[in-house]
Amino acid sequence: MKEREKRCCCKHCGGPLEIRVIIFNKYGGAGAELFCPSCEKIEFGTEPEIYEAAKTFVDELDFNYFHDLEENDRTYKLNISKVCEILSWGCKNWGILDKNGMKISLSPYTMQDIPDSSEGKP
Ligand SMILES: [Zn+2]
Repeated sequence: MKEREKRCCCKHCGGPLEIRVIIFNKYGGAGAELFCPSCEKIEFGTEPEIYEAAKTFVDELDFNYFHDLEENDRTYKLNISKVCEILSWGCKNWGILDKNGMKISLSPYTMQDIPDSSEGKP
């Protein structure tokens, strides 16, 4: 958990995480959890590379998974978080992400790297 605290960021806001002892219920269940102080919630976090890619994806493609919700800052963050989950799943599936983080180094990523359908047109 200490490693994730140092390495990972919040998948909603991209901010740093900290370890907090959280009281779960009145029967005294408590445990140390990763927590985002800016979102004020328990947050497992994501790799910073994945957050950056997810944010770019949502910004550039106006990605919106939550059509039923009003578009605002909250749904913007929910969408980034959703894309983080998808990208993390993909990276794990391809074997380039494990509990110690990314196994490859990623160059800074921009959407210009992705060929789009308008290519070749003036
Ligand atoms: Zn956050």
